[in-house]
Amino acid sequence: MCIFCKIVAGELPSTKVYEDEKTLAFMDINPVNPGHTLLIPKKHVETIYELDEETGKAVMSTLIKLVRAVKKATNCQGVTIHQANEKAANQVVPHLHIHIIPRWEKDYALGGWKAKPGDPEEIKKQADKIRNCLGS
Ligand code: 5GP
Ligand code: ZN
Repeated sequence: MCIFCKIVAGELPSTKVYEDEKTLAFMDINPVNPGHTLLIPKKHVETIYELDEETGKAVMSTLIKLVRAVKKATNCQGVTIHQANEKAANQVVPHLHIHIIPRWEKDYALGGWKAKPGDPEEIKKQADKIRNCLGS
């Protein structure tokens, strides 16, 4: 089982922000910026090439809600949506995932990927804020 399937199954811990029948969103443990969230289909699909339409629609529907919540929760100036397919694109985890990254004008433009291990307390705080914004 891949690590994200283990998170879906509850065999690995994660800081979840949203869950429905087909999708799950949780905080990235190495955030590029505070509030960096990952969205996955619960079903194991390695890349977007294998994503079926029904699951894709569910992912997109969650993505829209999540991006708005992340924007509101972090009060960021922009949001980058990043999704890598295959090693050449720097895909590390072989389970389709979409990065939702709050951005500020002082950040580097695309390519400024400066992830480092996040402080678990700070990550929890961000998750609480995003969860609250999902409800409104
Ligand atoms: P990729 O480079 O494949 O697009 O991104 C994989 C992302 O998954 C990275 O940003 C990495 O920090 C994150 N990640 C890897 N392992 C775990 C984990 O066990 N839990 C969480 N929450 N994130 C993870
Ligand atoms: Zn998987």
